[in-house]
Amino acid sequence: MRRFDLQLPGSVDDCLKLLAERGRETKLLAGGTDLLPQLKNHLLKPARVIDLSGVARLQTLDANGRSLRVGAAVTARELERSPLVTQHYAALAESGALVGSVQVRNLATLGGNLCNAAPSADMAPPLLALDAEAVIAGPKGERRLPMTSFFVGVRQTVVGPDELLVELLVPDPGPHSGGTYVRHTPRRELDIAVVGVASQITLANGVCTKARIALAAVAPTPVRATAAERSLEGQPVTPERIARAADLALEVAKPISDQRGSADFRRHLVKVLTRRTLTTAFARATRD
Ligand SMILES: Cc1cc2nc3c(=O)[nH]c(=O)nc-3n(C[C@H](O)[C@H](O)[C@H](O)COP(=O)(O)OP(=O)(O)OC[C@H]3O[C@@H](n4cnc5c(N)ncnc54)[C@H](O)[C@@H]3O)c2cc1C
Repeated sequence: MRRFDLQLPGSVDDCLKLLAERGRETKLLAGGTDLLPQLKNHLLKPARVIDLSGVARLQTLDANGRSLRVGAAVTARELERSPLVTQHYAALAESGALVGSVQVRNLATLGGNLCNAAPSADMAPPLLALDAEAVIAGPKGERRLPMTSFFVGVRQTVVGPDELLVELLVPDPGPHSGGTYVRHTPRRELDIAVVGVASQITLANGVCTKARIALAAVAPTPVRATAAERSLEGQPVTPERIARAADLALEVAKPISDQRGSADFRRHLVKVLTRRTLTTAFARATRD
């Protein structure tokens, strides 16, 4: 690995000052499970690395009744185990539980997963399905934007070289809501999603008032299947409507073929996993 200058700021402000000095030559380090292999394989050669482990604000995990606040450095393992998350944000907890192995999950952070911006990132679809917002700090202060605007391409996000992702705000889905995240991998563990789907449903008097479906690994960025969502909203949820929504989810899927699965197989999985996740989300919303 090439030598670099390592910095350990204690606050978001200190981190921003360091980024302002040498933003483009700098990489932020959270758990390092994506970054370290990239450094070791010489894919990146930063002159400076900023270790975020001393920035307390990034470790926040709390709920104020209306929303969940998850600091960018909260780990997949914390999301998997926290009752705050498992009780009301099951899709997010389930996605955290699928990342790598326990050893990886103890290091892998939510912010790292989102900022690495792999199309297969497991923790992205639940945040899209839960209408989460990202809080990004930069030289001009903080900005909030919906997760639907966060990803701009393969391994590209809206976070600039002089900015950092601070936290995610996830609104409480409210009563009679349910959600889940499911992915298909060729191997049971330590593999990345060939397709991942998160679904979230809210009901009132047996009618679907809100539906969200988000897909991973079928386009350059994680995407919402909005036509499928609209087909459910305002209607009672039935197996036929779920099957129709699964067909419509295909409209946003533009998968590639690679060694892990053909485009046709991925399209097939979009239908199967959308149907499965909507069925589970509906069952959970009914039980709630
Ligand atoms: C064996 C193994 C298995 C894996 N399995 C999975 C899996 O099943 N599913 C999956 O989705 N991923 C998987 N991954 C990938 C990786 O573990 C996750 O993407 C993880 O969440 C990355 O988080 P991190 O904290 O390690 O990020 P890091 O490696 O520290 O950072 C990743 C990128 O994000 C940037 N970054 C980090 N924090 C911030 C911030 N706050 N603001 C701005 N930029 C930031 C870094 O500069 C870097 O570019 C696996 C990796 C390994 C090595």
